[in-house]
Amino acid sequence: MARVVILGAGVSGHTAAAFLRRWLDAADEVVVVSPKPDYNWLPSNIWVGLGRMQPKDVLIPLAPIYKRHGIIFKQAKALSLYPEGSDGLAQPHVKIESTLPESAGQQELVTYDFLINATGPRLNFGATEGLGPAGHSLSVCTADHAQEAAHTFLDHVAAMKRGERRRFVVGTGHGTCTCEGAAFEYVVNLEFELRRHKVREQAEVVYLSNEYELGDFGMGGAHIRRNGYITPTNIFTESLFAERGIEWIIRSHVTKVEPTRILYQTLSGEEYELTFDMAMLLPPFSGVGLEAFDKSGINISSRLFAPNGFMRVDAEYSVKPYEQWKASDWPRTYQTPEYSNIFAAGIAFAPPHAMSQPHYTASGVPIFAAPPRTGMPSAMIGKAVAHTIADRIRGVERAPHMASMSELGAACVASAGADLRHGSAASMTVFPIVKDYDRYPEYGRDLNYTVGEIGLAGHWLKLLLHYLFMYKARLLPGWTLIPE
Ligand SMILES: Cc1cc2nc3c(=O)[nH]c(=O)nc-3n(C[C@H](O)[C@H](O)[C@H](O)COP(=O)(O)OP(=O)(O)OC[C@H]3O[C@@H](n4cnc5c(N)ncnc54)[C@H](O)[C@@H]3O)c2cc1C
Repeated sequence: MARVVILGAGVSGHTAAAFLRRWLDAADEVVVVSPKPDYNWLPSNIWVGLGRMQPKDVLIPLAPIYKRHGIIFKQAKALSLYPEGSDGLAQPHVKIESTLPESAGQQELVTYDFLINATGPRLNFGATEGLGPAGHSLSVCTADHAQEAAHTFLDHVAAMKRGERRRFVVGTGHGTCTCEGAAFEYVVNLEFELRRHKVREQAEVVYLSNEYELGDFGMGGAHIRRNGYITPTNIFTESLFAERGIEWIIRSHVTKVEPTRILYQTLSGEEYELTFDMAMLLPPFSGVGLEAFDKSGINISSRLFAPNGFMRVDAEYSVKPYEQWKASDWPRTYQTPEYSNIFAAGIAFAPPHAMSQPHYTASGVPIFAAPPRTGMPSAMIGKAVAHTIADRIRGVERAPHMASMSELGAACVASAGADLRHGSAASMTVFPIVKDYDRYPEYGRDLNYTVGEIGLAGHWLKLLLHYLFMYKARLLPGWTLIPE
Protein backbone atom coordinates (compact mmCIF):
# COMPACT_ATOMS: atom_id res chain seq x y z
CA MET A 1 0.00 0.00 0.00
CA ALA A 2 1.25 3.50 -0.84
CA ARG A 3 0.04 6.91 0.20
CA VAL A 4 0.17 9.97 -2.05
CA VAL A 5 -0.45 13.30 -0.35
CA ILE A 6 -1.52 16.24 -2.52
CA LEU A 7 -1.29 19.73 -1.10
CA GLY A 8 -3.91 21.96 -2.73
CA ALA A 9 -7.23 21.24 -4.44
CA GLY A 10 -7.09 23.75 -7.28
CA VAL A 11 -6.89 22.99 -10.97
CA SER A 12 -3.61 21.10 -10.65
CA GLY A 13 -4.06 19.30 -7.31
CA HIS A 14 -7.67 18.30 -7.96
CA THR A 15 -6.74 16.91 -11.39
CA ALA A 16 -3.82 14.95 -9.92
CA ALA A 17 -5.99 13.53 -7.12
CA ALA A 18 -8.76 12.47 -9.50
CA PHE A 19 -6.40 10.62 -11.86
CA LEU A 20 -4.39 9.03 -9.04
CA ARG A 21 -7.57 7.66 -7.53
CA ARG A 22 -8.45 6.20 -10.90
CA TRP A 23 -5.03 4.71 -11.61
CA LEU A 24 -4.02 3.37 -8.17
CA ASP A 25 -5.30 0.27 -6.39
CA ALA A 26 -8.08 0.67 -3.85
CA ALA A 27 -5.60 -0.16 -1.08
CA ASP A 28 -3.42 2.83 -2.00
CA GLU A 29 -4.38 6.09 -0.33
CA VAL A 30 -4.87 9.42 -2.06
CA VAL A 31 -4.97 12.23 0.48
CA VAL A 32 -5.81 15.84 -0.42
CA VAL A 33 -4.94 18.64 2.01
CA SER A 34 -6.51 21.99 1.18
CA PRO A 35 -7.58 24.87 3.41
CA LYS A 36 -10.84 25.73 1.69
CA PRO A 37 -13.92 23.49 1.56
CA ASP A 38 -14.53 24.22 -2.13
CA TYR A 39 -12.96 23.88 -5.53
CA ASN A 40 -13.06 27.23 -7.36
CA TRP A 41 -13.22 27.34 -11.17
CA LEU A 42 -11.19 30.56 -11.21
CA PRO A 43 -11.67 31.64 -14.86
CA SER A 44 -15.38 32.23 -14.23
CA ASN A 45 -14.61 34.51 -11.26
CA ILE A 46 -14.49 37.21 -13.94
CA TRP A 47 -18.26 36.85 -14.38
CA VAL A 48 -18.81 36.73 -10.60
CA GLY A 49 -16.82 39.96 -10.36
CA LEU A 50 -19.42 41.77 -12.44
CA GLY A 51 -22.55 40.19 -11.00
CA ARG A 52 -23.18 37.89 -13.98
CA MET A 53 -22.64 34.79 -11.84
CA GLN A 54 -22.79 34.08 -8.13
CA PRO A 55 -20.01 32.40 -6.08
CA LYS A 56 -22.13 29.23 -5.91
CA ASP A 57 -21.86 29.00 -9.71
CA VAL A 58 -18.04 28.73 -9.56
CA LEU A 59 -17.56 26.81 -6.30
CA ILE A 60 -17.95 23.06 -5.77
CA PRO A 61 -17.85 21.51 -2.26
CA LEU A 62 -14.97 19.03 -2.24
CA ALA A 63 -15.87 16.75 0.70
CA PRO A 64 -18.82 14.94 -0.97
CA ILE A 65 -16.90 14.42 -4.22
CA TYR A 66 -13.88 13.03 -2.44
CA LYS A 67 -16.05 10.81 -0.23
CA ARG A 68 -17.79 9.39 -3.30
CA HIS A 69 -14.48 8.62 -5.00
CA GLY A 70 -12.57 7.31 -1.99
CA ILE A 71 -10.16 10.23 -1.73
CA ILE A 72 -9.25 11.25 1.82
CA PHE A 73 -9.84 14.99 2.30
CA LYS A 74 -8.25 16.98 5.08
CA GLN A 75 -9.47 20.54 5.21
CA ALA A 76 -6.24 22.07 6.42
CA LYS A 77 -3.29 24.11 5.28
CA ALA A 78 0.15 22.60 4.95
CA LEU A 79 2.78 24.35 7.07
CA SER A 80 6.03 22.44 6.66
CA LEU A 81 7.63 19.45 4.99
CA TYR A 82 9.89 16.81 6.59
CA PRO A 83 11.13 14.84 3.56
CA GLU A 84 13.52 12.74 5.68
CA GLY A 85 11.22 12.40 8.66
CA SER A 86 11.89 14.10 11.97
CA ASP A 87 12.84 13.25 15.53
CA GLY A 88 9.49 11.79 16.46
CA LEU A 89 8.47 10.28 13.12
CA ALA A 90 10.86 8.44 10.82
CA GLN A 91 8.74 8.52 7.66
CA PRO A 92 8.59 11.56 5.34
CA HIS A 93 5.70 13.72 6.44
CA VAL A 94 3.93 17.07 6.23
CA LYS A 95 2.74 19.17 9.14
CA ILE A 96 -0.76 20.49 8.49
CA GLU A 97 -3.12 22.74 10.46
CA SER A 98 -6.88 22.26 10.39
CA THR A 99 -9.07 25.03 8.98
CA LEU A 100 -12.33 23.30 9.90
CA PRO A 101 -14.33 25.51 12.27
CA GLU A 102 -14.63 22.74 14.89
CA SER A 103 -10.88 21.95 14.97
CA ALA A 104 -9.30 25.15 13.65
CA GLY A 105 -5.62 25.43 14.51
CA GLN A 106 -5.12 21.77 15.45
CA GLN A 107 -1.96 20.38 13.92
CA GLU A 108 -1.35 16.92 12.50
CA LEU A 109 1.55 15.09 10.88
CA VAL A 110 0.60 13.27 7.68
CA THR A 111 3.07 10.73 6.32
CA TYR A 112 3.52 10.14 2.62
CA ASP A 113 5.27 7.95 0.08
CA PHE A 114 4.83 10.58 -2.62
CA LEU A 115 4.04 14.26 -2.22
CA ILE A 116 2.60 16.69 -4.76
CA ASN A 117 2.85 20.35 -3.89
CA ALA A 118 -0.02 22.00 -5.81
CA THR A 119 -0.58 24.90 -3.46
CA GLY A 120 -0.84 27.54 -6.20
CA PRO A 121 0.09 31.13 -5.40
CA ARG A 122 0.00 33.33 -2.34
CA LEU A 123 -1.81 36.49 -3.37
CA ASN A 124 0.88 38.92 -2.28
CA PHE A 125 -1.22 42.06 -1.79
CA GLY A 126 1.30 43.15 0.87
CA ALA A 127 3.84 43.92 -1.87
CA THR A 128 2.11 47.25 -2.55
CA GLU A 129 0.81 49.57 0.15
CA GLY A 130 -2.98 49.80 0.06
CA LEU A 131 -3.40 47.06 -2.57
CA GLY A 132 -6.23 44.55 -2.32
CA PRO A 133 -9.55 44.07 -0.56
CA ALA A 134 -7.97 44.80 2.85
CA GLY A 135 -6.75 48.07 1.35
CA HIS A 136 -8.41 50.20 -1.30
CA SER A 137 -8.56 48.10 -4.46
CA LEU A 138 -10.58 45.05 -5.43
CA SER A 139 -9.63 41.62 -6.74
CA VAL A 140 -11.23 38.69 -8.57
CA CYS A 141 -8.66 36.12 -7.46
CA THR A 142 -11.09 34.33 -5.14
CA ALA A 143 -14.86 33.94 -5.40
CA ASP A 144 -15.30 36.11 -2.26
CA HIS A 145 -13.11 38.84 -3.69
CA ALA A 146 -15.04 38.67 -6.97
CA GLN A 147 -18.37 38.99 -5.20
CA GLU A 148 -17.15 42.08 -3.35
CA ALA A 149 -15.98 43.54 -6.68
CA ALA A 150 -19.44 42.87 -8.16
CA HIS A 151 -21.20 44.69 -5.30
CA THR A 152 -18.97 47.73 -5.75
CA PHE A 153 -19.38 47.66 -9.52
CA LEU A 154 -23.17 47.47 -9.33
CA ASP A 155 -23.26 50.33 -6.79
CA HIS A 156 -21.34 52.45 -9.29
CA VAL A 157 -23.67 51.41 -12.11
CA ALA A 158 -26.61 52.56 -9.97
CA ALA A 159 -24.88 55.93 -9.40
CA MET A 160 -24.23 56.31 -13.12
CA LYS A 161 -27.87 55.59 -13.83
CA ARG A 162 -28.55 58.66 -11.68
CA GLY A 163 -26.29 60.61 -14.04
CA GLU A 164 -22.98 60.50 -12.14
CA ARG A 165 -19.62 59.87 -13.82
CA ARG A 166 -17.14 57.17 -12.80
CA ARG A 167 -13.58 56.10 -13.58
CA PHE A 168 -12.75 52.37 -13.50
CA VAL A 169 -9.15 51.23 -13.38
CA VAL A 170 -8.31 47.56 -14.04
CA GLY A 171 -4.87 45.98 -14.21
CA THR A 172 -1.83 44.96 -12.22
CA GLY A 173 -1.02 46.28 -8.76
CA HIS A 174 2.76 45.83 -8.92
CA GLY A 175 5.58 45.87 -11.46
CA THR A 176 6.18 42.11 -11.16
CA CYS A 177 2.61 40.83 -11.53
CA THR A 178 1.48 37.96 -13.70
CA CYS A 179 -2.02 36.89 -14.84
CA GLU A 180 -2.49 39.94 -17.11
CA GLY A 181 -4.87 37.73 -19.12
CA ALA A 182 -7.33 37.83 -16.21
CA ALA A 183 -7.08 41.63 -15.92
CA PHE A 184 -7.53 41.93 -19.69
CA GLU A 185 -10.60 39.72 -19.55
CA TYR A 186 -12.06 41.65 -16.62
CA VAL A 187 -11.65 45.03 -18.31
CA VAL A 188 -13.23 43.81 -21.55
CA ASN A 189 -16.15 42.36 -19.60
CA LEU A 190 -16.53 45.46 -17.45
CA GLU A 191 -16.72 47.66 -20.52
CA PHE A 192 -19.33 45.32 -22.05
CA GLU A 193 -21.40 45.42 -18.84
CA LEU A 194 -21.33 49.23 -18.80
CA ARG A 195 -22.81 49.20 -22.28
CA ARG A 196 -25.36 46.56 -21.31
CA HIS A 197 -26.42 48.73 -18.37
CA LYS A 198 -26.58 51.71 -20.78
CA VAL A 199 -24.16 53.82 -18.71
CA ARG A 200 -21.07 53.59 -20.91
CA GLU A 201 -21.20 57.32 -21.73
CA GLN A 202 -20.65 58.22 -18.08
CA ALA A 203 -17.64 55.96 -17.60
CA GLU A 204 -13.95 56.18 -18.23
CA VAL A 205 -12.26 52.77 -18.38
CA VAL A 206 -8.49 52.54 -17.94
CA TYR A 207 -6.26 49.47 -18.20
CA LEU A 208 -3.10 49.92 -16.10
CA SER A 209 -0.43 47.29 -16.61
CA ASN A 210 3.18 46.32 -16.00
CA GLU A 211 3.39 44.90 -19.53
CA TYR A 212 5.96 46.42 -21.88
CA GLU A 213 3.42 46.27 -24.71
CA LEU A 214 -0.28 45.59 -24.60
CA GLY A 215 -0.88 41.92 -25.36
CA ASP A 216 2.39 40.80 -23.75
CA PHE A 217 0.48 38.65 -21.21
CA GLY A 218 3.73 37.62 -19.55
CA MET A 219 4.67 35.41 -22.49
CA GLY A 220 6.55 38.06 -24.41
CA GLY A 221 3.50 38.65 -26.60
CA ALA A 222 2.81 36.54 -29.66
CA HIS A 223 2.24 36.72 -33.36
CA ILE A 224 -1.14 35.29 -34.18
CA ARG A 225 -2.69 34.20 -37.43
CA ARG A 226 -5.95 36.04 -37.97
CA ASN A 227 -8.05 36.33 -41.14
CA GLY A 228 -5.05 35.19 -43.15
CA TYR A 229 -2.76 37.89 -41.69
CA ILE A 230 -0.06 37.60 -39.07
CA THR A 231 -0.78 40.11 -36.32
CA PRO A 232 1.32 40.85 -33.23
CA THR A 233 -0.75 40.65 -30.03
CA ASN A 234 -0.01 44.29 -29.20
CA ILE A 235 -1.83 45.37 -32.38
CA PHE A 236 -4.63 42.87 -31.72
CA THR A 237 -5.09 44.16 -28.16
CA GLU A 238 -4.63 47.85 -28.98
CA SER A 239 -7.26 47.73 -31.71
CA LEU A 240 -9.65 45.84 -29.43
CA PHE A 241 -9.22 48.48 -26.70
CA ALA A 242 -9.42 51.38 -29.17
CA GLU A 243 -12.70 50.05 -30.62
CA ARG A 244 -14.16 49.84 -27.11
CA GLY A 245 -12.81 53.15 -25.87
CA ILE A 246 -10.61 51.54 -23.21
CA GLU A 247 -7.60 53.73 -22.43
CA TRP A 248 -4.32 52.08 -21.46
CA ILE A 249 -1.23 52.82 -19.44
CA ILE A 250 1.59 50.28 -19.67
CA ARG A 251 5.13 49.82 -18.26
CA SER A 252 3.82 50.83 -14.86
CA HIS A 253 4.61 49.76 -11.31
CA VAL A 254 1.95 50.67 -8.75
CA THR A 255 3.65 51.91 -5.59
CA LYS A 256 0.64 52.80 -3.45
CA VAL A 257 -3.14 52.59 -3.58
CA GLU A 258 -4.99 55.26 -1.62
CA PRO A 259 -8.78 55.38 -1.19
CA THR A 260 -9.29 57.24 -4.47
CA ARG A 261 -5.80 57.51 -5.97
CA ILE A 262 -3.24 55.12 -7.44
CA LEU A 263 0.40 56.17 -7.33
CA TYR A 264 2.63 54.52 -9.90
CA GLN A 265 5.93 54.90 -11.62
CA THR A 266 6.82 53.99 -15.17
CA LEU A 267 9.91 52.45 -16.72
CA SER A 268 11.25 55.90 -17.48
CA GLY A 269 11.29 56.45 -13.71
CA GLU A 270 8.61 59.14 -13.68
CA GLU A 271 5.98 59.18 -10.91
CA TYR A 272 2.30 59.58 -11.71
CA GLU A 273 -1.06 59.43 -9.99
CA LEU A 274 -4.42 58.28 -11.26
CA THR A 275 -7.68 58.90 -9.46
CA PHE A 276 -10.35 56.21 -9.53
CA ASP A 277 -13.81 55.33 -8.32
CA MET A 278 -13.26 51.59 -8.60
CA ALA A 279 -9.96 49.77 -9.09
CA MET A 280 -9.53 46.03 -9.68
CA LEU A 281 -5.80 45.41 -9.49
CA LEU A 282 -4.21 41.97 -9.41
CA PRO A 283 -1.50 41.25 -6.83
CA PRO A 284 1.90 39.72 -7.56
CA PHE A 285 2.18 36.01 -6.76
CA SER A 286 4.63 34.19 -4.55
CA GLY A 287 4.81 30.69 -3.08
CA VAL A 288 2.47 30.02 -0.15
CA GLY A 289 5.31 30.02 2.39
CA LEU A 290 5.87 26.31 3.05
CA GLU A 291 9.04 25.50 4.97
CA ALA A 292 11.14 22.33 4.85
CA PHE A 293 13.37 20.66 7.45
CA ASP A 294 15.85 17.80 7.27
CA LYS A 295 15.79 14.95 9.76
CA SER A 296 17.97 16.79 12.24
CA GLY A 297 15.60 19.77 12.19
CA ILE A 298 17.78 22.06 10.06
CA ASN A 299 15.76 24.40 7.86
CA ILE A 300 16.36 23.34 4.25
CA SER A 301 13.72 25.60 2.67
CA SER A 302 16.31 27.36 0.50
CA ARG A 303 17.21 24.00 -1.07
CA LEU A 304 13.62 23.13 -1.95
CA PHE A 305 12.24 26.57 -2.71
CA ALA A 306 13.34 29.50 -4.86
CA PRO A 307 13.54 32.90 -3.12
CA ASN A 308 10.01 33.68 -4.36
CA GLY A 309 8.72 30.68 -2.41
CA PHE A 310 7.92 28.49 -5.41
CA MET A 311 9.33 24.97 -5.41
CA ARG A 312 12.42 24.13 -7.45
CA VAL A 313 11.90 21.30 -9.87
CA ASP A 314 13.76 19.89 -12.89
CA ALA A 315 14.29 23.28 -14.56
CA GLU A 316 17.52 24.99 -15.61
CA TYR A 317 17.77 27.65 -12.91
CA SER A 318 21.21 29.10 -13.60
CA VAL A 319 21.04 32.87 -13.97
CA LYS A 320 21.75 33.90 -17.56
CA PRO A 321 21.00 36.84 -19.80
CA TYR A 322 17.71 37.06 -21.69
CA GLU A 323 19.39 36.32 -25.02
CA GLN A 324 20.47 32.91 -23.73
CA TRP A 325 17.08 31.77 -22.43
CA LYS A 326 15.92 28.54 -24.01
CA ALA A 327 12.61 26.73 -24.19
CA SER A 328 14.49 23.71 -22.86
CA ASP A 329 15.17 25.58 -19.57
CA TRP A 330 11.55 24.85 -18.60
CA PRO A 331 10.78 21.81 -16.46
CA ARG A 332 9.32 18.58 -17.84
CA THR A 333 8.75 16.14 -14.98
CA TYR A 334 8.23 18.59 -12.07
CA GLN A 335 10.19 16.33 -9.74
CA THR A 336 12.35 18.13 -7.20
CA PRO A 337 16.07 17.51 -7.65
CA GLU A 338 16.40 17.05 -3.88
CA TYR A 339 13.86 14.29 -3.27
CA SER A 340 12.62 11.92 -5.96
CA ASN A 341 9.23 11.49 -4.25
CA ILE A 342 8.34 15.22 -4.17
CA PHE A 343 6.81 17.05 -7.12
CA ALA A 344 5.44 20.56 -7.63
CA ALA A 345 2.53 20.98 -10.04
CA GLY A 346 0.67 23.99 -11.46
CA ILE A 347 1.58 27.43 -10.19
CA ALA A 348 3.54 25.95 -7.26
CA PHE A 349 6.69 25.19 -9.31
CA ALA A 350 9.39 27.83 -9.68
CA PRO A 351 9.78 28.98 -13.31
CA PRO A 352 13.41 29.12 -14.44
CA HIS A 353 13.02 32.72 -15.59
CA ALA A 354 10.46 35.08 -17.08
CA MET A 355 9.22 34.68 -20.65
CA SER A 356 8.92 38.41 -21.29
CA GLN A 357 12.09 40.41 -21.69
CA PRO A 358 13.05 41.94 -18.33
CA HIS A 359 13.00 45.74 -17.99
CA TYR A 360 14.17 47.86 -15.07
CA THR A 361 13.97 51.53 -14.21
CA ALA A 362 17.26 53.41 -13.95
CA SER A 363 17.13 52.82 -10.19
CA GLY A 364 16.63 49.07 -10.71
CA VAL A 365 12.88 48.64 -10.16
CA PRO A 366 11.68 45.64 -12.21
CA ILE A 367 8.68 46.42 -14.40
CA PHE A 368 7.79 43.47 -16.59
CA ALA A 369 5.23 40.70 -16.56
CA ALA A 370 6.06 37.45 -14.75
CA PRO A 371 5.35 34.19 -16.63
CA PRO A 372 1.66 33.36 -17.06
CA ARG A 373 0.36 30.41 -15.04
CA THR A 374 -2.71 29.37 -16.96
CA GLY A 375 -5.21 26.65 -16.19
CA MET A 376 -4.68 24.25 -19.06
CA PRO A 377 -0.98 23.60 -18.39
CA SER A 378 -1.67 23.49 -14.64
CA ALA A 379 -4.14 20.65 -15.19
CA MET A 380 -1.87 18.85 -17.66
CA ILE A 381 1.09 19.10 -15.30
CA GLY A 382 -1.08 17.68 -12.48
CA LYS A 383 -2.09 14.78 -14.71
CA ALA A 384 1.48 14.07 -15.89
CA VAL A 385 2.81 14.07 -12.32
CA ALA A 386 -0.03 11.76 -11.22
CA HIS A 387 0.83 9.41 -14.09
CA THR A 388 4.51 9.27 -13.14
CA ILE A 389 3.67 8.56 -9.50
CA ALA A 390 1.07 5.92 -10.42
CA ASP A 391 3.65 4.18 -12.64
CA ARG A 392 6.19 4.15 -9.85
CA ILE A 393 3.74 2.81 -7.29
CA ARG A 394 2.55 0.08 -9.68
CA GLY A 395 6.12 -0.80 -10.66
CA VAL A 396 5.67 0.16 -14.31
CA GLU A 397 9.11 0.83 -15.73
CA ARG A 398 8.99 3.70 -18.16
CA ALA A 399 10.24 7.25 -18.41
CA PRO A 400 8.47 9.91 -16.32
CA HIS A 401 5.51 11.62 -17.97
CA MET A 402 6.24 15.11 -19.19
CA ALA A 403 4.30 18.32 -19.55
CA SER A 404 6.72 21.08 -20.45
CA MET A 405 5.27 24.53 -21.02
CA SER A 406 7.57 24.66 -24.03
CA GLU A 407 5.56 21.79 -25.50
CA LEU A 408 2.06 22.74 -24.33
CA GLY A 409 -0.34 25.30 -25.69
CA ALA A 410 -2.62 27.70 -23.83
CA ALA A 411 -5.88 29.42 -24.60
CA CYS A 412 -7.09 32.81 -23.41
CA VAL A 413 -10.74 33.53 -24.12
CA ALA A 414 -11.63 37.02 -22.93
CA SER A 415 -15.34 36.72 -23.21
CA ALA A 416 -17.72 39.57 -22.67
CA GLY A 417 -21.20 38.27 -22.91
CA ALA A 418 -24.60 38.09 -21.37
CA ASP A 419 -26.36 35.15 -22.99
CA LEU A 420 -26.19 32.94 -26.05
CA ARG A 421 -27.19 35.69 -28.48
CA HIS A 422 -25.31 38.67 -27.07
CA GLY A 423 -21.63 38.88 -26.47
CA SER A 424 -18.25 38.88 -28.02
CA ALA A 425 -14.96 37.32 -27.10
CA ALA A 426 -11.35 37.86 -27.98
CA SER A 427 -10.05 34.32 -28.24
CA MET A 428 -6.40 33.48 -28.55
CA THR A 429 -4.51 30.23 -28.55
CA VAL A 430 -0.74 29.99 -28.46
CA PHE A 431 1.52 27.03 -29.07
CA PRO A 432 3.89 26.53 -27.41
CA ILE A 433 3.44 28.75 -24.35
CA VAL A 434 7.20 29.28 -24.01
CA LYS A 435 8.64 30.58 -27.26
CA ASP A 436 11.01 28.13 -28.89
CA TYR A 437 13.18 29.78 -31.53
CA ASP A 438 15.07 26.55 -32.19
CA ARG A 439 11.89 24.87 -33.48
CA TYR A 440 10.08 27.97 -34.78
CA PRO A 441 12.89 30.36 -35.78
CA GLU A 442 10.71 33.18 -37.10
CA TYR A 443 8.20 33.86 -34.34
CA GLY A 444 9.08 31.29 -31.67
CA ARG A 445 5.67 29.65 -32.05
CA ASP A 446 3.75 27.47 -34.48
CA LEU A 447 1.43 29.85 -36.32
CA ASN A 448 -0.87 26.98 -37.29
CA TYR A 449 -1.91 26.82 -33.63
CA THR A 450 -1.24 30.41 -32.55
CA VAL A 451 -4.40 32.11 -33.66
CA GLY A 452 -6.83 34.81 -32.56
CA GLU A 453 -10.42 35.73 -33.30
CA ILE A 454 -13.00 38.19 -32.05
CA GLY A 455 -16.69 37.30 -32.14
CA LEU A 456 -19.71 35.65 -30.56
CA ALA A 457 -18.37 32.11 -31.13
CA GLY A 458 -15.60 32.70 -28.59
CA HIS A 459 -18.20 33.67 -26.03
CA TRP A 460 -20.06 30.40 -26.67
CA LEU A 461 -16.78 28.54 -26.25
CA LYS A 462 -16.11 30.23 -22.92
CA LEU A 463 -19.60 29.40 -21.65
CA LEU A 464 -19.21 25.83 -22.85
CA LEU A 465 -15.85 25.54 -21.09
CA HIS A 466 -17.42 26.81 -17.87
CA TYR A 467 -20.06 24.06 -17.86
CA LEU A 468 -17.68 21.35 -19.10
CA PHE A 469 -15.01 22.09 -16.52
CA MET A 470 -17.51 22.42 -13.67
CA TYR A 471 -18.88 18.99 -14.71
CA LYS A 472 -15.40 17.54 -14.89
CA ALA A 473 -14.42 18.96 -11.50
CA ARG A 474 -17.46 17.21 -9.98
CA LEU A 475 -15.97 13.95 -11.31
CA LEU A 476 -19.32 12.96 -12.73
CA PRO A 477 -19.66 10.00 -15.15
CA GLY A 478 -17.47 10.40 -18.22
CA TRP A 479 -15.29 13.16 -16.67
CA THR A 480 -12.15 11.64 -18.13
CA LEU A 481 -13.51 12.23 -21.65
CA ILE A 482 -13.28 16.01 -21.10
CA PRO A 483 -9.73 17.12 -21.89
CA GLU A 484 -7.66 19.14 -19.47
C1 LIG B 1 -9.46 35.64 -12.04
C2 LIG B 1 -8.67 34.59 -12.75
C3 LIG B 1 -9.03 34.23 -14.03
C4 LIG B 1 -8.31 33.25 -14.71
N1 LIG B 1 -8.68 32.93 -15.97
C5 LIG B 1 -8.03 31.94 -16.62
C6 LIG B 1 -8.43 31.55 -17.93
O1 LIG B 1 -9.35 32.10 -18.52
N2 LIG B 1 -7.76 30.54 -18.53
C7 LIG B 1 -6.74 29.89 -17.90
O2 LIG B 1 -6.17 28.97 -18.48
N3 LIG B 1 -6.31 30.25 -16.66
C8 LIG B 1 -6.94 31.26 -16.01
N4 LIG B 1 -6.54 31.63 -14.77
C9 LIG B 1 -5.38 30.93 -14.17
C10 LIG B 1 -5.79 29.59 -13.56
O3 LIG B 1 -6.86 29.78 -12.70
C11 LIG B 1 -4.59 29.00 -12.83
O4 LIG B 1 -3.63 28.68 -13.80
C12 LIG B 1 -4.90 27.73 -12.07
O5 LIG B 1 -5.90 27.94 -11.12
C13 LIG B 1 -3.64 27.23 -11.39
O6 LIG B 1 -3.91 26.01 -10.77
P1 LIG B 1 -3.15 25.58 -9.45
O7 LIG B 1 -3.78 24.28 -9.05
O8 LIG B 1 -1.70 25.62 -9.65
O9 LIG B 1 -3.47 26.71 -8.37
P2 LIG B 1 -4.86 27.07 -7.74
O10 LIG B 1 -5.97 26.76 -8.66
O11 LIG B 1 -4.72 28.46 -7.22
O12 LIG B 1 -5.00 26.07 -6.50
C14 LIG B 1 -4.16 26.12 -5.37
C15 LIG B 1 -4.78 25.29 -4.28
O13 LIG B 1 -3.89 25.20 -3.18
C16 LIG B 1 -4.58 25.50 -1.98
N5 LIG B 1 -3.62 25.96 -0.98
C17 LIG B 1 -3.12 27.20 -0.80
N6 LIG B 1 -2.27 27.20 0.24
C18 LIG B 1 -2.22 25.94 0.70
C19 LIG B 1 -1.51 25.30 1.77
N7 LIG B 1 -0.66 25.97 2.57
N8 LIG B 1 -1.70 23.97 1.97
C20 LIG B 1 -2.55 23.25 1.17
N9 LIG B 1 -3.24 23.82 0.15
C21 LIG B 1 -3.06 25.14 -0.08
C22 LIG B 1 -5.62 26.51 -2.42
O14 LIG B 1 -6.65 26.65 -1.47
C23 LIG B 1 -6.08 25.88 -3.72
O15 LIG B 1 -6.99 24.83 -3.47
C24 LIG B 1 -7.21 32.63 -14.08
C25 LIG B 1 -6.84 33.00 -12.78
C26 LIG B 1 -7.56 33.98 -12.13
C27 LIG B 1 -7.14 34.38 -10.73
